[in-house]
Parts: sequence; C-alpha cells; structure tokens
Amino acid sequence: LPNSIEARDIAFQLHSYTDARKHEDNGPLVIEKGDGIYVEDNNGKRYIEGMAGLWSVAVGFGEKRLVEAATRQMEKLPYYHTFSHRTHGPSVELAEKLISMAPVPMSKAYFTNSGSEANDTAIKLIWYRSNALGQPERKKIISRVRGYHGVTIASASLTGLPNNHRSFDLPIANILHTSSPHYHSMKKDGEIETDFAKRCAQDLEDMIRAEGPETIAAFFAEPVMGAGGVVIPPQGYWEAVQPILKKYDILFVADEVICGFGRTGNMFGTQTYNLEPDMMTLSKGISSSYLPMSALLVNEKVYGPMADESHKIGVWGHGYTASGHPVAAAVALENLKIIEERDLVGHVRDISPAFLRRLHSLGGHPLARESRGVGLIGAVEFAHEALSATPGALGGKINMAFQEQGLISRNMGDAMAFCPPLIITEKQVNEMFDIAESGIETIAKAL
Ligand code: PLP
Repeated sequence: LPNSIEARDIAFQLHSYTDARKHEDNGPLVIEKGDGIYVEDNNGKRYIEGMAGLWSVAVGFGEKRLVEAATRQMEKLPYYHTFSHRTHGPSVELAEKLISMAPVPMSKAYFTNSGSEANDTAIKLIWYRSNALGQPERKKIISRVRGYHGVTIASASLTGLPNNHRSFDLPIANILHTSSPHYHSMKKDGEIETDFAKRCAQDLEDMIRAEGPETIAAFFAEPVMGAGGVVIPPQGYWEAVQPILKKYDILFVADEVICGFGRTGNMFGTQTYNLEPDMMTLSKGISSSYLPMSALLVNEKVYGPMADESHKIGVWGHGYTASGHPVAAAVALENLKIIEERDLVGHVRDISPAFLRRLHSLGGHPLARESRGVGLIGAVEFAHEALSATPGALGGKINMAFQEQGLISRNMGDAMAFCPPLIITEKQVNEMFDIAESGIETIAKAL
C-alpha cells in the first residue's frame, strides 16, 4: 500500500545493517507495542522478543514504573546538563548508585548516551591520562577480533568485525586487534581448550612485546563477546590474559554493555569471570533501553592522574549535551531498583539451566555445528553445504523462519542468538525454543 508505514519506511528511512540495494519484498517488520517478553506488529501478530530488542530490554516491555519515573522527571526538570560545575539530582544519584554497585572499587562515573559513546569516551580518557602522566607515546589500545564495541569512528575501530571497518577506512591509528578467543573456529587440530586459551594469551603478549609495552595503554574486551557471535571465553582465558595486562601495566577496560546488569547470572560479567577492570563501560540494561543512557566507570588509577595538580594538559575537553540526561538517569535509577527488588540476577541464575538445556538441545540438531551460552545469553551456529558459499545465507533464512513462527532472534552470520528479557519464565523459555526448533525443522525440510 503506497501510504502504509512499510512503504513510507522504504521511502524515507535509512536503516542500520541493511543492504540499501535491496529490501524485503514484504517491507520491514513494523513493531507497534510490547508487553513483558512479547512484542506485537501492526497486524496484531505477537512475537517473543528473543533478543530483548538489541540485547537490552532487561525488565521487559511495558514496565509502567519506568514510564512513571520518566513522567515525574519530565514534569520536574526535563533537561539539564552536567558541564563544568552544573549538575542535577538524577545524574548524581545514578553516579553514586553505579559506583556502589561496581564489583571492583571505582572512583567516578561519566555519562554518555550509547555504548559507542561510552567506549569513545574511554579511549579519549585513556589518551588524556597518558598525556597527563607525561607518557604521550603510550597511546596504543588493543581489542580483539570479533569483539564489538560500537560504531563511532574510534569505537568502530575497537570493534573487530570486517563489516564495521570495510568501506570506512578503519581502524584508525593506534588501535590493534589480538586473536579471537572462539575456540571452536580457531583451535588447532587436537588442541584442548585450556591450551587454546593459553595460546590466545600468548598472542596478546607477543603483540605487546612486538609493539613495545611502553606504547600500549589499554586492552578492551567484553567479558562475553555478544555481537561477534556470543563467544564464551574459553576455559582459562581470563586467568591467562589478566596477569599479562598487570605485568605490562596496561589498563583493562571491561565493555559490560551487554553483560552488565544480570545477563551472565551475576550483576556484571566482571564477577562471572573474576575480572579486575580499571574501567567499565555500561549501557543497554542500565535503563533497559527505555531511554538512551550509558556510563563509564573509572578507578583511581585512571582518575588520579587526571586530577593531579602537576599535569599541564588542560581541562578534560569532552562532553555531550545529553551527558547524564535527567529523564534517562531517572529511568535508569528506577530500572536498577526493579532489577534489585525483583532479584532479577537471582532469577537469571534460576532460569539459566533450563535456558542452556534447550539451547544445547537445539545445538544437537543435524544442521547445528555448535551451541554456546552462559546465564541468559547464547547462540547456536548452523551450517549446510548447499549454502556454505555465502556465509550468513543460512542464518538469514533461519531468522525469517523464526520470525514467521513468532520469534525474533538475530543472526550473526550463521549463528542465531538468544538473549531474552531477564524476566523470562521457564515456561516462556520452553515456548521460545519450541518455536526455534519448529523454525529449524521448516528450514531443514526446505533445504
Ligand atoms: N559494546 C557492546 C558490547 C555492544 O554490544 C554494543 C552494542 O551492541 C556497543 C558497545 C555499542 O552500543 P551502542 O549501539 O549503544 O552504541
């Protein structure tokens, strides 16, 4: 229909991660409303939101308390900034709350509006600190192949996926990528998981030594890689990597944008894997994405040199109009209250065994090659000879089959991700995987 929302979408909107040279015959899927773990399209068809939007709607859709928190704050003070020496209650409260929740001692919170901005800010802060310390040569930052840290120029550079580099002349200078920790695809013949983990750590150390340890400022990593395909760290990986960072006095930034706020069965992925980051970047679950909000936590090692009287590099010349936005901060505070009051972290731990059982059972399908998961995040990798020449072709088909049968998932290449709202019940976990199994059967029959 020429005037439909679908037709106007095609006419006017440029979408993320789509090929502008083609669009689906039926137009885009138009989501109109949401309730709990479900969303509904403009034809009244209901779907399980198996991805919590984009790994983010922790408390589910339609949470009235967040609406009320936003309304209250809108009426009182809809906007104010946090530049120089101006501030407002919600940003202060949220900063204090995040510092108190942090699993390792943190000194300061800095607010941004997306995961990308949080990571960009982290990079600038690291460079600022090196300058403040009188170590201007210490500017290189290492992240990992398949890591995902966002799409702005600097955070896209940290991201280790070809799609985010190709055609943009990225990565920028001073950003390096060490090897992917995905055991299944990267292991050598006969290599056991712990040996593979040690080899990854050795690759990192080799890179540090080849570049010169005095030039390396920081290492960025997600505790569990999300958008790179849900890569669970191999056994012994973090135990081998962290001492290397300490040995060369390299700052560790944990990108908790997906893992933070319960996803892995602890409040932070940092706790699940015993990490000791110097900085943490947070977004998504912080506000369940009801409003854009992200934050960067820094410890005293990072903040100290910035505040030291002796440095002569001038003010921290950085800030966003909406840094610490009062309405987003009020929503984040209420969201964190809900996560704590309802013990959603404990709930994730209770539900996780059922989730992982069904995930691995789907991973036993003849079309599946590997399944991997922790807490309430997982993926199943699929493959079929007929489609092997075009990576992602099978994943795309499965994605559409799931959608037709009432499940929204996300294919990362040929891996299907599962990352439902944290409030999902065991019955709903079964409902989700029943649809996934039926979707896979449909595809298997058609191949
Ligand atoms: N870091 C991680 C781990 C992410 O998963 C994402 C987004 O998916 C980002 C950073 C970027 O966040 P945003 O899309 O809000 O810029």
